[in-house]
Amino acid sequence: MRALWFDSELRLDDVPVPQPQKGEALIRVLAAGICNTDLEITKGYMKFTGIPGHEFVGIVEKSPDEYWVGKRVVGEINCPCGVCTYCRLEMPRHCPNRSVLGIQNRNGAFAEFLTLPVNNLHLVPNSIRDDVAVFTEPLAAAFRILEQTQITGEHRVLILGDGKLAQLVAQVIWLKTKRVQCVGKHESKVELLRRLGIPCMLYDEPVEPGADVVVEATGSKEGLTRAMELVRPEGTIVLKTTVAGTHELAMSIPVIQEIKIVGSRCGPFRPALDALAVGIVEVRPLITEIFGIEHAVQAFQRAAQPDAMKVIVHM
Ligand SMILES: [Zn+2]
Ligand SMILES: [Zn+2]
Repeated sequence: MRALWFDSELRLDDVPVPQPQKGEALIRVLAAGICNTDLEITKGYMKFTGIPGHEFVGIVEKSPDEYWVGKRVVGEINCPCGVCTYCRLEMPRHCPNRSVLGIQNRNGAFAEFLTLPVNNLHLVPNSIRDDVAVFTEPLAAAFRILEQTQITGEHRVLILGDGKLAQLVAQVIWLKTKRVQCVGKHESKVELLRRLGIPCMLYDEPVEPGADVVVEATGSKEGLTRAMELVRPEGTIVLKTTVAGTHELAMSIPVIQEIKIVGSRCGPFRPALDALAVGIVEVRPLITEIFGIEHAVQAFQRAAQPDAMKVIVHM
């Protein structure tokens, strides 16, 4: 099968179709989205080698459970061992023995086929198009914030960043409180949120500090420092950025201000699929360009350009 392969560089390759292991389904990929994590992987993040890609929609070709065969699915990306302490505490996303689709010890979605445990699969409602369904995984990551913080209509929330994840985060938080402001860098990107009625400002404009919650989704090293300036004492910073590098920070600030810093990664698929099915989150304006698998390397180059939002690869 054709697949995008990364070791020291990205290239299109011809590799064997993966064999499903016990409890796994074989899925024919229809489309996959390029995420910032994928771009970081090509810079060495997680020291991953193999087929990247974890935001996908596909059709189940083979499954130990007949129900799934022929169904259009999305899939949770963490594949836990099921027996360790964290798995038994129902924290499978933190299983130390897990593999992660396209990120850690498991080939991903920029290929004609992938395998995933049947337990990870979610049926995609017919009302969701393929190009929209690839947003399920990043949208679930945005919904994770609502599991980790108690945001109500009373709270003032700042979102730092205007990239694809920040846009999803802003839309999800907008469902809970209208006291939202998004702080972006690119006029064209913040314009997409303004069209949805979400107040935005540019990075060099003065932002009123003292927010109850600041979500750091800039994708840059500097975002956390800015978040610490803008959050109120005893407020919460939710960290969404994954950068391959390391931070240098004045760690006395969160101590003195008693700030909670909450790392936030993967989230629940169910509310994400529900939101996409009824259209309360708008993702189609976030699609920059769609490439065929034969141009997947160019797709990555396009996704790395500063004006790019979601770039999708069709198989
Ligand atoms: Zn991702
Ligand atoms: Zn485990």
